[in-house]
Amino acid sequence: MNICWYDQHQLGVVADGRVYAVGGALAALPTARYPAAPGDLLIAHLDTVRAAIERLLPNAPSKPASEVRFLSPVANPGKIIGVPVNYADHVAEANADQATFTDRYKGPIREQGLFLKAASALVGPSEGVALRFPERLSHHEMELGVVIGKTAANVAQEDALSYVAGYAIALDMTVRGPEDRSLRKSLDSYAVLGPWLVTADAIGDAQRLDISLSVNGELRQRASTAEMIIGIAEQIAWASSYYTLHPGDIIMSGTCAGVGQVLPGDVIDCAIEGVGEMRVAVRAAQG
Ligand code: MN
Repeated sequence: MNICWYDQHQLGVVADGRVYAVGGALAALPTARYPAAPGDLLIAHLDTVRAAIERLLPNAPSKPASEVRFLSPVANPGKIIGVPVNYADHVAEANADQATFTDRYKGPIREQGLFLKAASALVGPSEGVALRFPERLSHHEMELGVVIGKTAANVAQEDALSYVAGYAIALDMTVRGPEDRSLRKSLDSYAVLGPWLVTADAIGDAQRLDISLSVNGELRQRASTAEMIIGIAEQIAWASSYYTLHPGDIIMSGTCAGVGQVLPGDVIDCAIEGVGEMRVAVRAAQG
């Protein structure tokens, strides 16, 4: 099932090029109380909401997907986890251009560790990317987004994929420079997720998906998720050995070669096999 938030934060299901309005399914959520449990309420109760959606779908009004504005399919993630240097061809391009790729930590991924992006950076494709610091390089990084569905602490690698709610297209936007990754990757709108969440049951093998990214129609990044140095299950197990993962936490699982600069006015087109396509406009931040 392809679950989305769209327009004025309405809940939808995408099928056959149409978006079905299923907001009534939110009545299945428990009443919010303070303090809220960690994580995203909808993702935490996805099975219940999904059952309600199934009952509503036959009579749900719909409109063409081309006419809606897609927001992030996760509304309230607790954290966004980044996986650096996880494709060999990207490692090679970074090592070949150390004037641009100035990350202070070098070496293989198991030595570098994971990083965190601020949850406040998250937007959906319709919101676009607002570039800051025009004198510096802002790069696109095309990635498979993994959305955690259940609380996970110290999970074994062989069990890890059972903690996945679903997948989405992710853009790990990045300002190049000498600072720590978490700062340079946490600007408002520098984490794009969309256009919808494909539930894990609808993806056969997430470790065997073609991913691609174009800018203004020019292909820049193309790979298979099979090329990841550390696969999704190991990422979840590794992350959960340091901190508890909560429903709605997002893992951006690493980028392949071809990362490059975007400028105001550019249009980024991303695609992941079995997930879909999303278009993201780039503009200059105001002020
Ligand atoms: Mn990245």
